[in-house]
Amino acid sequence: MDITELTVHELQEKLESKELTITEITKAYCDRINEKEGDVQAFVTTLTENAMEQAKGMQEQFDKGELKGEFAGIPIGIKDNICTKGIKTTCSSKMLENFVSPYDATVMEKIKEENIINLGKLNMDEFAMGGSTEYSYFKKTKNPWNLNKVPGGSSGGSAAAVAANMVPWALGSDTGGSIRQPASFCGVVGLKPTYGLVSRYGLVAFASSLDQIGPITKDVRDAAMLLNIIAGHDEKDTTSSDRPKMDYTKCLKNDVKGLKIGIPKEFFGEGINEEVKASLQKTIEKYKELGAEIEEFSLDIAKYALATYYIIACAEASSNLGRFDGIRYTYRTPEFKNLKEIYKKSRSEGFGPEVKRRIILGTYVLSSGYYDAYYKKAQKVRTLVMNEFNKEFEKYDVILTPTSPTVAFDIGSKTNNPLEMYLADICTVSVNIAGLPGISIPCGVDKEGMPIGMQLIGNKFCEETILNAAYTLEQAINFRQNYQPQFRK
Ligand code: GLN
Repeated sequence: MDITELTVHELQEKLESKELTITEITKAYCDRINEKEGDVQAFVTTLTENAMEQAKGMQEQFDKGELKGEFAGIPIGIKDNICTKGIKTTCSSKMLENFVSPYDATVMEKIKEENIINLGKLNMDEFAMGGSTEYSYFKKTKNPWNLNKVPGGSSGGSAAAVAANMVPWALGSDTGGSIRQPASFCGVVGLKPTYGLVSRYGLVAFASSLDQIGPITKDVRDAAMLLNIIAGHDEKDTTSSDRPKMDYTKCLKNDVKGLKIGIPKEFFGEGINEEVKASLQKTIEKYKELGAEIEEFSLDIAKYALATYYIIACAEASSNLGRFDGIRYTYRTPEFKNLKEIYKKSRSEGFGPEVKRRIILGTYVLSSGYYDAYYKKAQKVRTLVMNEFNKEFEKYDVILTPTSPTVAFDIGSKTNNPLEMYLADICTVSVNIAGLPGISIPCGVDKEGMPIGMQLIGNKFCEETILNAAYTLEQAINFRQNYQPQFRK
């Protein structure tokens, strides 16, 4: 048995039955990281030594029957924009290269309460801006299915590490698709929760009205389990919902009979790769066989979603990133004559080109002359997008689309054309604009063997519905049993 191929629920069973020990599991992952990290480059910081120490301590407690936590002794990887006390949180930026957070994000506190072991911090596009992880200041993460391709982004390190079995599960963040799109490129499961379900406290803000933390896992059951851990009200986040906690594994019924699935035809038209379309068509047929009711409809407003997203996200980013000024916890330019020059040079040297582009765009759309024409208008369109989804969810339980218009693309093929990079988000951004939950699961591969992802969108706080629909398909197609990353060079 290769321990690192197991899902978290399988690891948990084997820990309970004493077939495996905590130290064996942690060691297997540390070995796997040593073996594969050279090729995949998923980590900004590895904590393998630390993790082994922790595992030994926990094993002793476990043997005495004193270890608390349903997932105690299971390892995890964390995207590097989630604050971890005493460990660097860089956001893959030169600006925060040496930043050590003095506190834990709320999700991290919850992970620690469960006695889950942190294996390291995972690479990402700088400040989560991008769709390929190529905008990291430190390294370019590779796609484990083909090392010449990007893993997607911005949570590319998280998705690649899960796909390469270097961590059993990981946390990512999603502002416009950054959990779902890399999950789809790497053939794993990615869940973006409803806005407000998971606390954003301690997540370095990109666009506060869109950001959500969520799970990247090997299968849907693991995603439901990780959501159980991280979801819940947090008074440190004013946008956090106070709905009662629930057990998301209870909804995994393996039954979609009578489920009403809407197919927005705009997501299957121009610009969507033919092989992606064909794979999605097969998936839709599968759902029919399983007893779901499928209907096509038009989500006309979707064509404005990308423009709306990039205006709102950049506006919020330009404001959120104002705090990185060279004075407090950030990079500071070595030579300066006065205060103004500290600001100017530190920010010019500390931020990469994509981050600067967003700050400039965001400042522009918020400037007095253009505020009404761009920012205010985008906010109005945002309301229209929300209304349109509300209307459709009166008819449908879930909406099914591709996660991304293409499979993973070649490294370097889009970095010179930002607009083309932005188009990779066309299927995911409207979900964030409307604050809805969305999940991506693998549904097939293309001719070159690269994974294709399907996205299911649910109504607000209807995670159960999309989790069950995803689970049922997963059971029917058995993607993980049929396809595994090849590390092709
Ligand atoms: N690719 C999108 C962007 O660049 C989404 C990023 C994200 O979800 N963090 O903004």
